[in-house]
Amino acid sequence: MRRIGVLGGTFDPIHAGHLALASAALEAAGLEKVDLVPSFSPPHRPSHRPAAHWHRFAMVVLATTDRPRLLASDREIRRAGISYMLETLRSYREDDTPAVPLLILGLDAFAELPSWREPEALVAEFDLLVASRPGVRKEEVLQGLPAWLRRRISPLPELSQPPAGAGRPCGGRIALFDMPPYTVSATEVRERLARKETIKSLVPEAVASYIVKYDIYGGGYPATGE
Ligand code: ATP
Repeated sequence: MRRIGVLGGTFDPIHAGHLALASAALEAAGLEKVDLVPSFSPPHRPSHRPAAHWHRFAMVVLATTDRPRLLASDREIRRAGISYMLETLRSYREDDTPAVPLLILGLDAFAELPSWREPEALVAEFDLLVASRPGVRKEEVLQGLPAWLRRRISPLPELSQPPAGAGRPCGGRIALFDMPPYTVSATEVRERLARKETIKSLVPEAVASYIVKYDIYGGGYPATGE
């Protein structure tokens, strides 16, 4: 069965940290590809009003055009409604060519997982790959986890193998791994735009041009200038 990574997020906008995370996960878990899945409507109300989902999706498409194994997925947008990750992961079973999805998360998102919809079902049914993120302390996150979540953490190499025991489906394992640090966040990109500062090097060039061309975050910013 094909193993593919699923990286969900608001992608408001997609940035270099998302791309580095997807690429690092691809290699770390020996995945065939990684789907980047912009949410239609995030379950937790963000502190700001996100850009329209079609713009967030378009930016993911632009950011991944020259990366053959990273794909923009519109499955949460097509489903509409609140974007619950458990539903998204289960939806892969209905595909014409079913694949086994592995959920990719940064450590900050992982720390929030207990507040997601049916988190115990999610971690029982699917494998998770959790990457380090600058400014988020691994030890603190681990200490704050409920026992039912902590006890599923296993060494990284295990994730690229099927679970021990004949016929056991993938799922139920969580691996943590360290990726090269990228301090960028979407909040930083939006804040820089608001201050009319450059976002060069934080997002791919095509995304920076798109933000300016369609004035995604308001104001006609010199997003690619110095
Ligand atoms: P915001 O600043 O608006 O909260 P964000 O930069 O955290 O956004 P999201 O779209 O919320 O981006 O994140 C999607 C996923 O990517 C999450 O699992 C998050 O942990 C991960 N992620 C985002 N940026 C990084 C980064 N720089 N390093 C590692 N993981 C990251």
